[in-house]
Amino acid sequence: MNVILIRYGEIFLKGNNRCFFENALRSNIIHSLKDFKFELKKISGRYELSEYEETQERAIIDKLTKVFGIHSISVATKLETDYNSIKEECCKIKLNGQSFRVTANRASKIFPVKSMQINKEIGEIILNNNPDAKVNLHTPDVEVLIDIRENGFTYISTSVITCAGGMPLGTAGKGLLLLSGGIDSPVAGYYLARRGLSIEAIHFHSYPYTSELAKQKVISLAQKMCDYMGSIKMHFISVTHVQEEINKKCDRDFMITLLRRMMMRISQKIALNNGAGALITGESLGQVASQTLQSINATNAVVDIPIFRPLIGFDKQDIMDVAHKIGTYDISIQPYEDCCTVFLPKNPVTKPKIEKVLAEESKLDIEALLQKSLDSEEIMIIQN
Ligand code: ATP
Ligand code: MG
Repeated sequence: MNVILIRYGEIFLKGNNRCFFENALRSNIIHSLKDFKFELKKISGRYELSEYEETQERAIIDKLTKVFGIHSISVATKLETDYNSIKEECCKIKLNGQSFRVTANRASKIFPVKSMQINKEIGEIILNNNPDAKVNLHTPDVEVLIDIRENGFTYISTSVITCAGGMPLGTAGKGLLLLSGGIDSPVAGYYLARRGLSIEAIHFHSYPYTSELAKQKVISLAQKMCDYMGSIKMHFISVTHVQEEINKKCDRDFMITLLRRMMMRISQKIALNNGAGALITGESLGQVASQTLQSINATNAVVDIPIFRPLIGFDKQDIMDVAHKIGTYDISIQPYEDCCTVFLPKNPVTKPKIEKVLAEESKLDIEALLQKSLDSEEIMIIQN
C-alpha cells in the first residue's frame, strides 16, 4: 500500500506545547486537503496519510508542499515489518543508472537485524537488480529509506520532497500585512506566515486616482498567497483625501513621509480592532527614498506595536526569486499604479528631519483624516 509520510521538524523543540503545534498542523493539513478523500494518522514523530486516490497523489503532494510546519514528505510503500517482505519490496526498485545509498532507520529495536547490516544486504539486492547502478554514500542520486517504526510497520521510500518548512500557520498569533501591489509585500507576508503568524492584509488606494484594475491586482495577489494561507481577510482603505490635503497644505516633498505616517496610524487601528499584534511591511533598507533609516524612523514613530520587516536585509533579486517561487511575481509586475505613485513629488526627502515632519504634519487635522479613512473601509474575505 502506498502512503505519504509527512515529516515536521522544529515542532519537536517545543516541549510541553508540542501538542498544540501538532494539533494545529493536523488541522491545517486537513483544511488544505479539504477537496480530497484520505486518512491521516499520527505515528511517532510523523503523520501518515493513506487511503487516497492514486490519481490524486500529485495534487495532494502539491498542496502539502505549501503547508507551513511540514519539512518534507515521501511517498512510501507500507508493509508489515518482516525482513523477507522488505527484501522482496526492495527487489522492485528500478534505478535507471542512478547512484544510490540505503539508509535504514530502526526506530523499533525489536527488529533483530542491525541498521548497518540492513543497509549492506539491501544494497546488494538493489545492485543485483540494477547492474548499472553505483553505490554513493555521500551524494547519491537516490536515497532508499527503510524506516522501521514502533507500530509494527516498515515504510520504504526512494525520494524526499522538501516542503515549505516553518511553523504551523496560526500558532504565532496574528499580524496585519500592508499589502501593496508590488513585488515585496507578498513575500514579506509569506515569510511571517511561515513562522506561524496568521495574516490579515490592508491595502490603501486613492480611488479614483488609482483604478479598479489596481484593486483587482491586489485581490489576485491575495488569492495567490492563499495557496499558503488558506484565506485572507482584506481591508481596503481610501487615502485619497489624505493625499489631497497634503498636496494642498504641506511641502509636497514630504508627501511620502506624511502619507506613510498616516498609513501606519490607520494600520495600527485596524490591527488592534482585529486582534492583530503586529504590522508587516515589505520594506528593504535603502531600496527607495521612503526606506532609508531616517524615513523608517519617521514612520515608525507613530505606532506602538511592533512592525515586522522580514525583507529589511534582502537584495531586490533575492526578493524576486522568492516571489517567483511562491507564484506572486507575475501578478506583481502588472503595470497598475499604486497610491504612493499618485502625487509623487519630484524630490521626495530621503532624510526627513523629525522636527520638519512634525511642522508639516501640524498643518493637517490628523484625527479627522484618520476617521475618514477608517469610514472608507471595505472588507473582503479572499480564498483561492
Ligand atoms: P512593494 O513592492 O511591496 O510595493 P515597494 O518596493 O514598492 O514595496 P514602497 O512603495 O516604499 O516599496 O512600500 C514599502 C512597503 O509599504 C510595502 O512593502 C508595503 O508593505 C507598504 N505599502 C506601500 N504601498 C502600500 C499600499 N498601497 N497599501 C498597503 N501597503 C502599502
Ligand atoms: Mg510599492
